[in-house]
Amino acid sequence: GDLGPRMVKGALYTYVRPEETEDPELLGVSWIAMKDIGLVDGQENTEEFKETVAGNKIFWDNKTEEGIYPWAQCYGGWQFGSWAGQLGDGRAISLFESKNPSTNTRYEIQLKGAGKTPYSRFADGKAVLRSSIREFIVSEALNGLHIPTTRALSLTLAPKSKVRRERLEPGAIVARFAQSWLRIGTFDIIRARGDRTLVRTLANYLAEHVYPGWESLPSALEDPSKPTYSAINPPSGVPADKVQGAEGIEENRYTRLYRAICRKNALTVAAWQAYAFTNGVLNTDNTSLLGLSLDFGPFAFLDNFDPSYTPNHDDHALRYSYKNQPSIIWWNLVRLGETLGELIGSGAKVDEETFVEQGVTESFAPELIKRAETVIGNVGEEYKTIFLNEYSRLMSARLGLVSEQESDFKELFSELLDTLEALELDFNHFFRRLSTVTLSDLSTPNSRIEKASIFFHSEGMTTTSGVTESAGKERVAAWLEKWATRVKQDWGEDRDVEREAAMKKVNPKFIPRSWVLDEIIQRVEHQGERDVLKRAMAMAEHPFEESWGGDREEEERWCGDVPREGRMMQCSCSS
Ligand code: AMP
Ligand code: MG
Ligand code: MG
Repeated sequence: GDLGPRMVKGALYTYVRPEETEDPELLGVSWIAMKDIGLVDGQENTEEFKETVAGNKIFWDNKTEEGIYPWAQCYGGWQFGSWAGQLGDGRAISLFESKNPSTNTRYEIQLKGAGKTPYSRFADGKAVLRSSIREFIVSEALNGLHIPTTRALSLTLAPKSKVRRERLEPGAIVARFAQSWLRIGTFDIIRARGDRTLVRTLANYLAEHVYPGWESLPSALEDPSKPTYSAINPPSGVPADKVQGAEGIEENRYTRLYRAICRKNALTVAAWQAYAFTNGVLNTDNTSLLGLSLDFGPFAFLDNFDPSYTPNHDDHALRYSYKNQPSIIWWNLVRLGETLGELIGSGAKVDEETFVEQGVTESFAPELIKRAETVIGNVGEEYKTIFLNEYSRLMSARLGLVSEQESDFKELFSELLDTLEALELDFNHFFRRLSTVTLSDLSTPNSRIEKASIFFHSEGMTTTSGVTESAGKERVAAWLEKWATRVKQDWGEDRDVEREAAMKKVNPKFIPRSWVLDEIIQRVEHQGERDVLKRAMAMAEHPFEESWGGDREEEERWCGDVPREGRMMQCSCSS
């Protein structure tokens, strides 16, 4: 770590230890994260825990040279569509890997905001308290919503570390973990170096040590139109023979690895869309090879449904807006496909260990990459299908439907989204409130109009598009009538209680919205409050509950109508 920021050659990580933190204060832990990683309740109170997550204890003995020395990963990235060169963990340092003995899941534990690394470039290696609070809560909130994500174990205040952003701010460290921190950017940097052997080595490592082995990868004959995780009647299907390698190219194990990575990302982005989560900076360095939600900067959940919304104040082109997420993740996956192109394009030949030495010369590679383009195109169709199936499955569940019908997409989903957008209604509140609606609430035109008002903001209609309040309610009522018909088909009569329970298991009451996070930051940073973090974490971990045994007024306020000035806030990237 003495050498300072630099270009790293031939390696994908550098040993570097965290800076010491003076007088660290443990502000909070995620209890579910503690359990998932294999720690027990109360262990967070030990000195060892506190010193470790503050960066003051590493598991390496200088004298005996035993243990594990911390490291920072090297990666590159395509940022806003342009190649950005080497990036890497500029302020994240991994401490060790750890296996939960009861689940056998292995995690890499790292500290964010722990000081400079060779990848810090011009920056300070620090993270400010406000962005750390946001990451701490949202990681666990996404996990609570069953959306694949990197996790947050703890939040530590570094009171002596003053970090300069727009002003001087307190620093903090988030201890976080993931089954893998590898990202598309990890492959990007190897491609940029032209290191073809390392592309292959990393792909092998990924398949054998991060994924559960080559045998676990999707086989060519698996028809994505009938995925095992999904319900019936997908909106569109790709015939199995289209998914394998292009004509004349036998699908090899690297194609199957690529397909597995694309599938995982398709599932995650479908969940983002279904819960209206926006990452805000979906560069390839923030796109996980395991399909985890990764890197929480200016993220946000939508309040009012606006597909063009981006939480990123600097994203003027709306590249990373809500509606662009599925296609931008695919754009990133195509960059990955190009890096793997030589492996994908060479068919069965590549399975021989002697591939690089014998079969493929530099001049042959461009031909393989060209052949790979057809394969990538086919995998794109598969990505689309998996995405649509999963999105449909989640939206159906959120609407309380048991079956999926082809017509639901247009008649229920699209019409609902158009209505929410036109009337400027809150996306996640809509589903939670819909859960409580009974069929008898919707039995007459008048009762439907009356019920429609529960979906409106407390100040009534706020739309700027000139729709009157009564026209708005009629539109919602018309949708409710269609929904009631579908619910009756799936459930029959008199099943409101069971359906409400089922819907509340997938429709969160609590979402860590920007305005709530801002309030928590204010209270922790400026009013010295501490317990508020605990209460927020409990809600984030269990978002589907009705109450959390904390401060009832606060809980209802955070789960209630979003204050007008707090809707659809944006963030800058300086964190
Ligand atoms: P991000 O926009 O969060 O994906 O970050 C892009 C790159 O900038 C990554 O390599 C980060 O590690 C690095 N980076 C961001 N903030 C800092 C910081 N305060 N100190 C060092 N590196 C940083
Ligand atoms: Mg990043
Ligand atoms: Mg970041």
